[in-house]
Amino acid sequence: MISHFISDYFFYVFLAFIFFTFLMRSKRGVSHAKRKGMLYLSAAVFLLYIYALALAAYTIQDLYLILYFVIIIPIFVIFRKHLFPFTKIRCEKCGKLLSFDQIIYYDSKKCETCDSLKTEKDI
Ligand SMILES: [Zn+2]
Repeated sequence: MISHFISDYFFYVFLAFIFFTFLMRSKRGVSHAKRKGMLYLSAAVFLLYIYALALAAYTIQDLYLILYFVIIIPIFVIFRKHLFPFTKIRCEKCGKLLSFDQIIYYDSKKCETCDSLKTEKDI
């Protein structure tokens, strides 16, 4: 049942992840790590989709889905900094809440004012 659900609908989840990755491409130059993280997550979703598709095609029990998570969860834990770069919601310099665009798209963990101050110092 679960494998049928995943094989029916997770391809669209994968497409949504890829579409989001392409949206991040518009912020080229400032969102390299976050775009890469999103691409890795979409690869994990795609692997889950393929695995569930194989389970459903060969009518294997859903219990074997646990095998996917036994393999993928340690990988997620080990590479969590690369896979989930969306963890900072406050500026690391002044503590101001970051905007939605900065949380989603920008690799810099500083707000616009702190980021602009840095660039003025560099010049
Ligand atoms: Zn700031």
